[in-house]
Amino acid sequence: MTNAFDVVVVGAGIHGAGIAQAAAAAGHSVLVLEQNAVAAGSSSRSSKLIHGGLRYLESWQWRLVRESLHERALMLQLAPDLVHLRKFFIPVYRHTRRRPWQLRIGLSLYALLAGCDRAARFGTVPRSQWSELDGLDLHELEQVFWYHDAQTDDALLTGAVLRSAQSLGARLELPARFIGATLTADAVQLRYQQGDAASDSECECSARVLINAAGPWAEHVARAISPAIDVPTLQLVQGTHIVLDYAPRAGLYYLESPRDGRAIFVMPWHGRTLVGTTEVRFHGDPAAVTPAAHEIHYLLSVLRHYFPHWRGDAMPQVVSAFAGLRVLPGSGGHAFHRSRETLLHKDRNQQPRVLSVYGGKLTTWRAVSERALQIVAASLPQRRALARTDRLLLK
Ligand SMILES: Cc1cc2nc3c(=O)[nH]c(=O)nc-3n(C[C@H](O)[C@H](O)[C@H](O)COP(=O)(O)OP(=O)(O)OC[C@H]3O[C@@H](n4cnc5c(N)ncnc54)[C@H](O)[C@@H]3O)c2cc1C
Repeated sequence: MTNAFDVVVVGAGIHGAGIAQAAAAAGHSVLVLEQNAVAAGSSSRSSKLIHGGLRYLESWQWRLVRESLHERALMLQLAPDLVHLRKFFIPVYRHTRRRPWQLRIGLSLYALLAGCDRAARFGTVPRSQWSELDGLDLHELEQVFWYHDAQTDDALLTGAVLRSAQSLGARLELPARFIGATLTADAVQLRYQQGDAASDSECECSARVLINAAGPWAEHVARAISPAIDVPTLQLVQGTHIVLDYAPRAGLYYLESPRDGRAIFVMPWHGRTLVGTTEVRFHGDPAAVTPAAHEIHYLLSVLRHYFPHWRGDAMPQVVSAFAGLRVLPGSGGHAFHRSRETLLHKDRNQQPRVLSVYGGKLTTWRAVSERALQIVAASLPQRRALARTDRLLLK
């Protein structure tokens, strides 16, 4: 079997799977190396939303919101069994920082950027129906807005994208851990460890282009390339979710943390409730990320604040908790206000051999993957395209 590929992708998260799909659809030979399991990293620990990101309007990330809403519409068409439109509620109290007029402007803009389709509708819940909102605190409640966004199962979606890439000829090696690479004038020589720790063996392959889609490990991967390539300043931010033993019935809730104003989602999830997320700077080995007790406490306190009558008067029981890592390019500033745009970083301007994917959103995986492929197109041979990613159904 040949060990020379047009594209070798490190990482089978949503970006690795997406770029493998885009490259295979463009007719390229593709190998994906994954050290652990498909979607083992951030792509199984997200808030599971395929959304425009209403809150990103506050930090003027309009281009990102518009692209995300476009991708949301596309995912609802291409992956109808995996991406579902859901009703979201935003309660506004006397003390809520974002006032009703601000929300009305935000939701109007959101609808405009979504192209005013069925999913773009929004409104307010009549007072007579507030008691149906899962025990939401009605004291000093002024208004409840509703709008739509989409929810998915991030790990299943990633698996579906990877299967789509495989159906177009991409090869997956798993477990296979990238060890290092050497750049030559017209190729990349890669070394990776195949198999589990007990039976591992070192392998080599070559690629015209190496895609570093290793998520929180992307800096490690970039630093294992010689001659050394430029690595931008990156920060890792930990986000924790808790899973509770009961599901809200009316829909998803978009809450403002009474402590610091951050967005917290309360969402039905496989018959339970998912509450998240926190934002805490992370240092160390990405494999060691775990939910901290104070983060679980924080999320529970937000839930109790808004839902004093959650499931009658029973105390919410935490069934499980998980943490994931966001990669935020740049430094300084509060994580909440930092850009969620994906940074596609190439090793050189002419004929790049390495493209690193830093940060980004689950929602924009397809658009980002197409952009990534365009950036490296000059380094790849001409091939006959097999398919278009905006037409490939995901199952
Ligand atoms: C708490 C949280 C909530 C989020 N919520 C949302 C949301 O609701 N909606 C949204 O759109 N986005 C959300 N995001 C963002 C989204 O989850 C991420 O942008 C996305 O999952 C990143 O995918 P990735 O493929 O870049 O990285 P990952 O999914 O982390 O994939 C990287 C893969 O590379 C593999 N790997 C690493 N090193 C090696 C190596 N040496 N050899 C082989 N394989 C390797 C890892 O095992 C891993 O599988 C959230 C992120 C977080 C952290």
